[in-house]
Amino acid sequence: MKALVLEKAHELRLRELDIPLHVGPRDVKIRMHTVGVCGSDVHYYQHGGIGPYVVEEPMVLGHEASGIVAEVGSEVTHLKPGDRVCMEPGIPRMDSRATLEGIYNLDPAVRFWATPPIHGCLTPFVVHPAAFTFRLPDNVSFGEGAIVEPLAIGLQAAKKAALKPGDVAVVIGAGTIGAMTALAALAGGAARVILADLVPEKLALFAGNPAVTTVDVRAGKLADTVKALTDGWGANVVFEASGSARAFDGIFDLLCPGGCLVMVGIPADKVAFDIVAIQAKEVRIESVFRYANIFPRALALIASGQVDVKPFISRTFAFEDGIKAFEEAAAGRATDVKIQIEFPEPAAA
Ligand code: ZN
Repeated sequence: MKALVLEKAHELRLRELDIPLHVGPRDVKIRMHTVGVCGSDVHYYQHGGIGPYVVEEPMVLGHEASGIVAEVGSEVTHLKPGDRVCMEPGIPRMDSRATLEGIYNLDPAVRFWATPPIHGCLTPFVVHPAAFTFRLPDNVSFGEGAIVEPLAIGLQAAKKAALKPGDVAVVIGAGTIGAMTALAALAGGAARVILADLVPEKLALFAGNPAVTTVDVRAGKLADTVKALTDGWGANVVFEASGSARAFDGIFDLLCPGGCLVMVGIPADKVAFDIVAIQAKEVRIESVFRYANIFPRALALIASGQVDVKPFISRTFAFEDGIKAFEEAAAGRATDVKIQIEFPEPAAA
């Protein structure tokens, strides 16, 4: 089976790879349709690792996926061949303490696609547990299905923030995760999102949304806008979704007393905190590591029209051009948010 394989840093190949496709009783076999290129995939491509996760053996990339069920295991009742689905990429051990406590995303034994040494899904077929495979509503496209994964991170962030109806939220960073977090904050009840980035092309994607105020941080100060829009009180929630250490400079000035900081972005290095600034406002601090029990909610929000992810799918490449898709993603063009890869339709039998 052909796969998009990261041999080592800077070396991607589209080549044959032997991947076992045994369908267990509670598994489904899926013919892949669309896979999104994630910042983490690009980071593995450019650096060969992320923190403690180092690519030591050739690894298939990709974890943001949708496809069509091709075969179901003997005990699977909620899916059948032909169903259009998307897949949650992290599989915990089902009897682990973390799973039983409802925080399966934090299971130390979790197997997550394209996190070494686990292969990702940029290959024509995958076998996946049915419990982590979700049928797409009829009005949700494969492209939308494949962007559910980053949307799930935004929704996990909104959940951790415990937003209240009418809150004002700041989102720092308008890449895929920041954009999905902004959409999630609005769906979660925020009256207004103040979205900050230094790339005007990314902010422009929100131009038509009357509930979003964009701030180009090269042109003006985010703190001034927050002050002006909250009568000087500050935002109820700040979502840090840029992963930039500099974003933390003065970040607590953006919050109202008793406000909440949610850390979504992943900084490359340690970041120093002004603890007194936290104490002076009794800031609640939350963090996000992937998501748990979010995929069905993400699909429901897309299907109902409450969340429109389509403007953030920037370009689509054919699987045969998968390496080009990664080179383009690595180039980091201002007009690209999410780049996706599509598999060819099977030849008619
Ligand atoms: Zn991702």
